[in-house]
Parts: sequence; structure tokens; C-alpha cells
Amino acid sequence: MKTLKFSYLGNFSHSLDAAVYHAQPRFTEEIAEIFELARKYDLRIAPRGAGRSYNDAALKGGGIVLDLSLLRCVQAWDAETGILRAEPGLTLESLWQYILPDGWWPPVVSGTMKTTLGGCLGMNIHGKNNFKKGTIGENILEFDAILPNGKEVTCTPKKNKDLFYGMISGMGMLGIFTSVTMQMKRVYSGLLEVKEWNVPNLEAQLDALLEGAPRNDYIVGWLDGTARGRRLGRGQIHAANYLAKDEDPDPAETTRVAFQTLPDTFFGVIPKSKLHYLMSLGLNNLGVWGVNTAKYLLGRNKSYQQAHAAFHFLLDYVPDWEKSYGKYGLIQYQSFLPKETALDAWTEILKLSQKRGLPTYLGVTKRHRPDNFLISHALDGFSLALDFKITNSNRAKLAKMVQDFDEIVLDAGGRFYFAKNSETSAETTRQFLGEETIKKFGKLKKRCDPENLLYSDLYERIFGAQ
Ligand SMILES: Cc1cc2nc3c(=O)[nH]c(=O)nc-3n(C[C@H](O)[C@H](O)[C@H](O)COP(=O)(O)OP(=O)(O)OC[C@H]3O[C@@H](n4cnc5c(N)ncnc54)[C@H](O)[C@@H]3O)c2cc1C
Repeated sequence: MKTLKFSYLGNFSHSLDAAVYHAQPRFTEEIAEIFELARKYDLRIAPRGAGRSYNDAALKGGGIVLDLSLLRCVQAWDAETGILRAEPGLTLESLWQYILPDGWWPPVVSGTMKTTLGGCLGMNIHGKNNFKKGTIGENILEFDAILPNGKEVTCTPKKNKDLFYGMISGMGMLGIFTSVTMQMKRVYSGLLEVKEWNVPNLEAQLDALLEGAPRNDYIVGWLDGTARGRRLGRGQIHAANYLAKDEDPDPAETTRVAFQTLPDTFFGVIPKSKLHYLMSLGLNNLGVWGVNTAKYLLGRNKSYQQAHAAFHFLLDYVPDWEKSYGKYGLIQYQSFLPKETALDAWTEILKLSQKRGLPTYLGVTKRHRPDNFLISHALDGFSLALDFKITNSNRAKLAKMVQDFDEIVLDAGGRFYFAKNSETSAETTRQFLGEETIKKFGKLKKRCDPENLLYSDLYERIFGAQ
């Protein structure tokens, strides 16, 4: 790789783009060359996996975006133990397709399979089983990384422990993951046993997550952000469990990749690649109210079996669905609240969004547990992710509203997730993380990256210009 290509790159939700120097190494050795180029031309670097963060995490306007998506080899796979070693650009899609035919599934996955291992570690992602399996970092046995200070390190929960817990969740600001070793989860079928039921309001929604989590392998809620009054926060819960050994009469068939793959047409007619055009017609306050009301009223108690990929990656069913939000894209606001304060704080947030005429078009709730990573978003409570459409006329109003949300979340002892939120300020970050965590992160940063080469737009926004 000899040159840096000048390019415009955006974020997943099409709400931001930046003019950058795009570097795409094909070999790990080239990463050190990029650090050299950055020094020579006084540029800063944002690492990038698949660019699926909703915000500015994988962007550096005027700097280098170090795109690691071509480093994507599986380096070792043991189908007996379920231990996999791979380069950081391997996507979760390639990963599950590689291991499922051998009867394994990734222990933690995001709501899209397009993310890379490096990006998932950078943000320390969670799945619909966070309450049970923790974040992805809790399932990592070892990783190798190259640091801007020239060192190459191997980290495990015991070796270079501070780097292990700092780099996983460190938003790519301490070093570059070059190889990841991870324990997969044994499965005896390509199917999950799924239950689905309606909940009439936010209180019932949170109760269902709390009571349902210990009895299920996965649990997640859909929240109708347009419902008001005593129906505020109503929605649907989906809970799923693995099938036990011998429960699936034909596991060889259900674990085939072709069995999992989502169909090409919707209702057997509309090509799924065109579906986002159709969706865009309904993406306004009235349309979303209509669709949500119908979804809720048609909701029934149901049990069925569903392929792993269909359960986890529903959003991937419609390719480019984010484009249905129009040319200004969307923002996602995800807050994490202790179980004691979640109901009141989210009631306030949902009411505020309705009062300002900016209802969320998609709400998702999950159950979480705390973890030991340095920049941790999870806690003993719940998360609520809210999607908002950006238009030319609502942009400023929306930005102000999510900053108001931040105050409500801080007051309620909540936490934020830097893979999603696009407005959280340095002052809010300081209050959320606390002086001690910021100091610890700063110390690691100085040790790994004394020249501040790794420096994304997100980093500057949440820690202030350095
Ligand atoms: C539809 C959708 C659903 C989602 N669902 C979930 C969910 O259920 N749970 C959840 O937790 N998140 C979820 N996310 C967020 C997503 O999982 C994270 O933003 C994830 O980090 C994106 O991975 P990526 O490979 O695209 O990384 P990018 O967005 O490209 O980068 C993410 C971060 O990792 C850093 N990074 C990337 N590669 C490396 C590397 N090799 N070394 C060091 N740092 C690196 C980047 O600098 C950046 O800070 C979802 C996103 C989408 C679009």
C-alpha cells in the first residue's frame, strides 16, 4: 500500500460525512507505515472497521481513516473447542457463516452482521443476551495489537490486563487490533425457540425484560414511540432460547448457511433491495403512527422456531434500510439506566420527544449487566435505543432535544454508548465517566500513543480538543 486515497466517507446513518485520506492496508505490516505517514504529514488517524457506528467514531475529517476491512482472514479455527482466531476486519457475517456448519455461534452479536471484529471490540458491543453473556469483550481470550508507540502487544484478561480492559471499549484510540481470539458458543441447531407477546406500557415492558431475562437466552423489546398517555412505552417482547441437544431432528440441515440466509423477496414479491424505497414513503410522523398502531394491535402471543440469523439480524433483512430515512439520515440515541430509575427517566424522555413533535420512529429495549471494561456503557438495568429522522428543518431542534435527554439520563445515574450517540458533549462525558476513569484512560493513551496519532472526530467531541 503506497498511497493514501483522498475520499469522502460517511457514517452508517448518513448523518455525517468527512473529507479524509483513506488507507486500506492489506497486510498487518502496513499499519506501521500509516503511522509513519501520519507523523510525516502531521495527520491524525481514525481506525475503521465496517463504518457501522451511527456517529463520528470511525471518521477523522482532514485526517487518515485507517480502514481495516481488508484484514479479514480466519487464522485458526478449532471445531472441537470452538476457539477462533481471526484478523480484525472479519465481519460477524463471515464469522457465523464459517462456524455454524460446525455447530457454533458467536457468543455476542450486534443487531447487524455487517460489523467487524475490530469494530466490535473497539466499542465492546452487546447483544440481546447482555444480561447473560456480557459484552463481546467478556468472550475474548486474547488479542494482538500494534500501538502507535511502535510496540506490538498480546493481551489477555491476565496478561497486559490494563490494556486488555482499556483497548476493548477504547474506541480505537489506544492501538490497532491485529488479531482476535474468541470463544464461540456451542449450538445444537440452526434454530431458536422464540416467544413473542405484547406489553401495554413502559412499566410492563421493563417488568417483562426483568422477569424474562433469567428464563431466556435472549430477550429484546420493541417500543412504540408514538403511543401516548397510559399506553406510553407499549410494545412487544421477543424472547428466544437455544434448542437442547437432540431437540432438532435435522441439525445438519438447519445449520447450513443456505438455510439461514434471508429470502431475496418480501412477501415473495418485492425484491428486498428495493424495499427501502417503499419504507421511505411511510417514514413520517403519521405513517409511523399508523404502522406502529397496526403492529401493536395485530400482535398476538406466539411461539415459533426461527433461524439464528433471522432472529438476530432482522435489520439486515432490508438492505440499506437506513436510506429510507432520506438524504439527511437519522440519529440513534441509546441510553442505559439502572433498573430503579429507568421507568421515570424514560417516561420523561418519551413525553419530551412527543411534546416537541419529534417522536422516535423505532424504539428498542434490552436488559443489561455491568462489566469491567474501562469505558463501559452497560449496567444493572436496561437500555433504550431511539431512532430519529433528521430533516433540514428539525436538525437543530433534534440536537437540542438529545442534549436535554443527556441531562435526564445523567440525573438518573445512567450511562451512554459511544457507538451510537452523536451529540454527547465533553462535559456530559466527564460527568458520566467520572474523573478517575478519564484519568486512567488518559494515562493509557499517553503510554500507547504519546503523539496522539489516534484521534477520531468522536474522541475530540467527547474528550475535548487535545
Ligand atoms: C443496524 C445496526 C445495529 C446495531 N446493533 C447493535 C447492537 O445490538 N449492539 C451493539 O452493541 N451495537 C450495535 N450496533 C453498533 C455497532 O455494533 C458498533 O458501532 C460497532 O462498533 C460497529 O462495528 P464496525 O466494524 O462497523 O466498526 P466501526 O464503526 O468502523 O468502528 C467502531 C470503533 O472501533 C474502532 N475500530 C475499528 N476497527 C478497529 C481495529 N482493528 N483496531 C482498533 N480499533 C478499531 C473505530 O476506531 C471505532 O472507534 C449496531 C449498528 C447498526 C448499524
